[in-house]
Amino acid sequence: MNEITFIIDGLELKTQKGSTILQAAAENGIYIPHLCHNPDLKPIGACRLCLVENEEGRLITSCENLAEEGIVISTTSPRVENARMMITKLLLANHEANCLTCAQNNQCELQKISSFFGIEKENMEDLRRSITDISPDESNPFFKRDLKKCILCGICVRTCRDRLGVNAIDFAYRGDETKITTFLDQPIIESNCVSCGECVIACPVGALVPKTNLKPIREVKTTCTYCGVGCGLYLGVRGQEIITSRGDPEHPLSQGNLCVKGRYAFKFVNHPNRLTKPLIKKNGLFVEVEWDEALEFAARKLSKYKEESFAAISSARCTNEDNYLMQKFTRVVMGTNNIDNSARSCHAPSVAALAETLGSGAMSNSIDEIPHAKCLFIIGTNPNQSYPVLNMRIMDAIKNNAKLIVADPRDIELNRYADIVLQHKPGTDIALIMGMIRVIVDEGLMDDNFIQDRCENYEALLKSLESFDLETVEQITGLKADNIKKAARLYATTESSAIFYSLGITEHSHGTDNVMALSNLALITGNIGKPFTGINPIRGQNNVQGSCDMGCLPNVYPGYQNVEDEDVHKKFQKAWNSQLSPFIGMKMPEMMEAARDGNLKALYIMGENPALSEPDSSNIQKALNDVDFLIVQDLFLTETALLADLVLPGASFAEKDGTFANADRRVQRVRQAIKPIGDSKPDWQIITELAQKMGMKGFKYSSAEEVAHEIAVLTPIYGGILYNHLEEKGLQWPCLTEKDEGTPILHKDKFSTKNGKGKFIPLSYRLPAELTDEEYPLVLTTGRRIFHYHTSTMTGVVTGLKKLYDHDSVEINPIDAEKLGLQDGEGVWVVSRRGRIKAPVELTDRSPKGLIFMAFHSPNTKTNLITNSACDPVTKTPEFKYCAVRIDKDENI
Ligand code: SF4
Ligand code: SF4
Ligand code: SF4
Repeated sequence: MNEITFIIDGLELKTQKGSTILQAAAENGIYIPHLCHNPDLKPIGACRLCLVENEEGRLITSCENLAEEGIVISTTSPRVENARMMITKLLLANHEANCLTCAQNNQCELQKISSFFGIEKENMEDLRRSITDISPDESNPFFKRDLKKCILCGICVRTCRDRLGVNAIDFAYRGDETKITTFLDQPIIESNCVSCGECVIACPVGALVPKTNLKPIREVKTTCTYCGVGCGLYLGVRGQEIITSRGDPEHPLSQGNLCVKGRYAFKFVNHPNRLTKPLIKKNGLFVEVEWDEALEFAARKLSKYKEESFAAISSARCTNEDNYLMQKFTRVVMGTNNIDNSARSCHAPSVAALAETLGSGAMSNSIDEIPHAKCLFIIGTNPNQSYPVLNMRIMDAIKNNAKLIVADPRDIELNRYADIVLQHKPGTDIALIMGMIRVIVDEGLMDDNFIQDRCENYEALLKSLESFDLETVEQITGLKADNIKKAARLYATTESSAIFYSLGITEHSHGTDNVMALSNLALITGNIGKPFTGINPIRGQNNVQGSCDMGCLPNVYPGYQNVEDEDVHKKFQKAWNSQLSPFIGMKMPEMMEAARDGNLKALYIMGENPALSEPDSSNIQKALNDVDFLIVQDLFLTETALLADLVLPGASFAEKDGTFANADRRVQRVRQAIKPIGDSKPDWQIITELAQKMGMKGFKYSSAEEVAHEIAVLTPIYGGILYNHLEEKGLQWPCLTEKDEGTPILHKDKFSTKNGKGKFIPLSYRLPAELTDEEYPLVLTTGRRIFHYHTSTMTGVVTGLKKLYDHDSVEINPIDAEKLGLQDGEGVWVVSRRGRIKAPVELTDRSPKGLIFMAFHSPNTKTNLITNSACDPVTKTPEFKYCAVRIDKDENI
């Protein structure tokens, strides 16, 4: 019996056991005024406005007290009315009420309560007015803090602390001087605030408001164009301009939350620097031309470079429909499988390793399971900076008492909430994970039934564990054996445990082995194929999953159908009415090598910027210069586009229809909000026009939806993914038919390997490709910062983001800095065997001794000039996470 009956204001009401009086009243249409309550936060009963009277005549807070069987409550007794009226009058007395010009006008809880009580100016005459004169804090580029309107409900403080885990603000001072401010009462921009705007959305009054307060004329429901979380949002439009972005409260993963990029970084769409016309390079200078001339030029040039002298790089930012057509163009028009995408530089090891061990290289479980997880093992990923809304779901899990194990060479934000922190030496993940497996085996914590029924190759794994005794593992990882044991026990003995990882695992010269080690760990404990478990690679870019799903890889057609499989090959030849190459094509690093060797003559790059994003980038720029004909299709004149012979202006996510597939295999709609800017066109349309210009049949589509239909027909895992099926919510593949509701959890009854078994892989520890020595004594590892995305092509033109973060600094431990005589902020040269870059140092304990960290966003810093292009032998994924460097002082910087 979960239902209870109780009485409010003489009415007999029913509610679920566990509901608060406030919730129960609201469910039954009874309004109890409140200010400090927010359904996403733990109640604190601070504003006292939700007071109600119980049978004993006591005033109690309805937000904190539960509705219990048989209780009798009054929400309108004279004592309640008096108390609430006095509280409201006191709040209003200290409030600068200029509602008409306040951004919160008509949405303000204080306004609502004041009008509920019918408070008039005369009511206030008996109170001393004492509006504190505090100037608004306008330092943040996106929102304003006007503390004169603050009612001290603490919703912003709790949102920042409990939902974000950021803790940028808190109550300070005492009595009537109490205010909400940052550490040391600095302007908010000086604090650790990440500008997510969640406190702004949650503030019930006008104390925290966006700086731009224009309201849109219409809103279009779509999917965020930045990271792989795939948050749902509404773009607000006035005429042909995007003016707002707000979270979709109904979205199953993001639940209305957004990060700084999703909420505020939409200004790139209407930016004046957008490419609006095709450009042909004539005598070294770009000249604007009409589409017809551009396509004619491309068709003429490309007709000379068919088959192995052509390659294409597709885009993790473009839609599935764009990507599908890019690989079809490469295979059908150009006759080669030389197609790749930026997954090569990030999650190719996940795709390869998990396909081998489990039969599918994607996230096994769903992001919406995270809040209910029992144990999370987070390794080689910093979700706070890279996947902020997924990090909010981790914070939800922590609130629900989930256990947390965090493994990362750096001291990342989540460490503060972890039950066990494993700060291992960089590049030693295999030793750590295999060490944990060794503990599990030694202590008999395996899931024997699961191993016997659903796995193979166990004996081989056991044999390879011999070299991972804890003494050796301690030496390799620098961790205490005790800590490794605790982590192994916690992971293995909690009812369900889930692994989340990203590029800290994959971007190594042994990235594929790292992923296999994690797969071994999940298999040996049976933590896969059921809710709240799994092995979950978090994808970094909005549609990197989709560009792989669409077959923008040299070895597979859409839906991971092998190009070397005879039946598959025949199926696509028939469908596309074309002779297709039976050979696996080149991976991106191989394309660059072929270009430098003169074997690759033409390269077509859509929505990627390898000139900045790939390691040892001067060598990449050489390759791009060496091809005879380079086409770049993008939104802006990127560093790569500057090297092109032909630049084609593509349309952004706000200007076209399509779909993105997020990290948990969820295919979601992208909807056109405005017309393409200038003469730009949706990428899928450009490709079809070029193919037709080259005389090809089979490239006539009237809409993105028609392309999606062809994808569904040829791609079994996308078989039921049609637009009419996606209107309300996304679908997780495999989704085989229109009746299929998708697959939130993979591997439930069997794995997708040929024999249905999960495969253990024996592994050994290998050193990183490049080691430190006397000349290069420090390790450089790279990663992301929350304020920018990839090489800043889009975020770099958003003025507010540039104000928050405009250069890549060198994070260094204070002890290393002292040894080198460096002061915080001092400019230095970071030198590797490949070159040198200059940047200011940032002294921080986030970096352990011997390890420095840099992001790779800034086109001025060009971090990838010095990173190492040594690759994982299986996938050719570069070792971005480890290279040897030194720091040189330079007085002239
Ligand atoms: S915060 Fe509310 S009550 Fe205060 S000025 Fe704004 S709308 Fe009016
Ligand atoms: S914007 Fe986000 S990080 Fe900054 S204070 Fe508000 S909740 Fe905290
Ligand atoms: S977390 Fe990712 S998907 Fe969500 S708003 Fe931020 S960038 Fe967009």
